[in-house]
Amino acid sequence: MIPVNFNNVKIKIKNIIEHKNLKLRDIGEFGWINRVRSRVLQGRSGILAGIGDDSAWIKSQGSLLITCDLLIENVHFLKDIHPPRLLGRKALSVNLSDIAAMSGIPQYALVAIGFPQDTELEYADELMEGFLEVAVEHKVELIGGDTTASEKLCLSITVFGKPAHKKPVLRSGAKPGDDIWVTGTLGDASLGFELLKKSQTGELDLSDFHHSSLLVKHFDPDPRVEAGIMLGKIANSMIDLSDGLISDLGHILEESGKKTTVKAEVYLDKLPISKDFKEYFKGNPLDDENGLSLVLTGGEDYELLFTAKQSSRSKILEFSRKLDLPISRVGRIKKGKKAEVILRDEKARKVKHPRLKFEHFPSQERQMT
Ligand code: ADP
Ligand code: MG
Repeated sequence: MIPVNFNNVKIKIKNIIEHKNLKLRDIGEFGWINRVRSRVLQGRSGILAGIGDDSAWIKSQGSLLITCDLLIENVHFLKDIHPPRLLGRKALSVNLSDIAAMSGIPQYALVAIGFPQDTELEYADELMEGFLEVAVEHKVELIGGDTTASEKLCLSITVFGKPAHKKPVLRSGAKPGDDIWVTGTLGDASLGFELLKKSQTGELDLSDFHHSSLLVKHFDPDPRVEAGIMLGKIANSMIDLSDGLISDLGHILEESGKKTTVKAEVYLDKLPISKDFKEYFKGNPLDDENGLSLVLTGGEDYELLFTAKQSSRSKILEFSRKLDLPISRVGRIKKGKKAEVILRDEKARKVKHPRLKFEHFPSQERQMT
């Protein structure tokens, strides 16, 4: 509950019309909810009741995909430098990426926000602006949420969707002999984030920095919804890259290896790396310890990692052309004694893993693997 300061409302009555220089507390929780409600076109025929009642009421048929993600200030984003509009965009995009990874069509979203007491109304407005931009781009309808005051800015979004095909693509379908594929390029988002942190400590001047695509990948990832839908009939297993290639491929191996254990071989020279990433490292980024670590373990690329049988290769390359999105074949699933990712260089020699970069609840043992 954000308490309303009535004195302020009287004094700033003129400003209410202009919505300038106001704090969220000036209009209060319900003023804010009405404001969001007025910006949402609840046009979809499946919505029987959206924002404004105790629950949303949705017509539904068949199975549902449901996902939820939490973003917290200074854990997932640096509030001082993350523009609110882009934060709103990213908050929804990362959830759409989870629907994409199942080969789903996103439909509805709920947004729960904890705003610090002194949040400017303009800040909150821009955040919703970004959120609603992405919602419109992907035909997702905002059907409700929750608003509260909190010490740190936090955002939890839940998205509902439906499988694009008869069945969604699970993490558990990888089979020995499958190729391993990845959309887009690897490591850009985490390099972008590293550059931002450097700019905060004064090590890097962002106004001089020209590889803006790296920053965009961190600020405004593009969820691969269309690719996910196209790949739905072809991919045996799929996941979106939120934690980094090695970690996310590990999830596929774990889930797919319940009956017959499978391992993955990844060819380092086949990993897709963007021009700007290469330019930053001046030379082969995989020769640089940090470059290699960002490509293999840097998270938040929100690309799709999937496996498919070898006979699907030409179809996948055709999708890549249609989507105007690189899709690269980076390895192979094999039978194995344990679920492990083996890295090979261009001469097929084994390469040691760099340390995994990040876990929310790190344990020494896990970090060292
Ligand atoms: P309740 O107290 O019954 O949980 P609320 O007063 O929290 O209801 O919310 C009233 C309505 O506004 C509900 O339909 C809820 O889903 C919606 N809502 C609340 N916060 C938001 C938000 N940040 N964005 C969109 N809808 C919201
Ligand atoms: Mg509530």
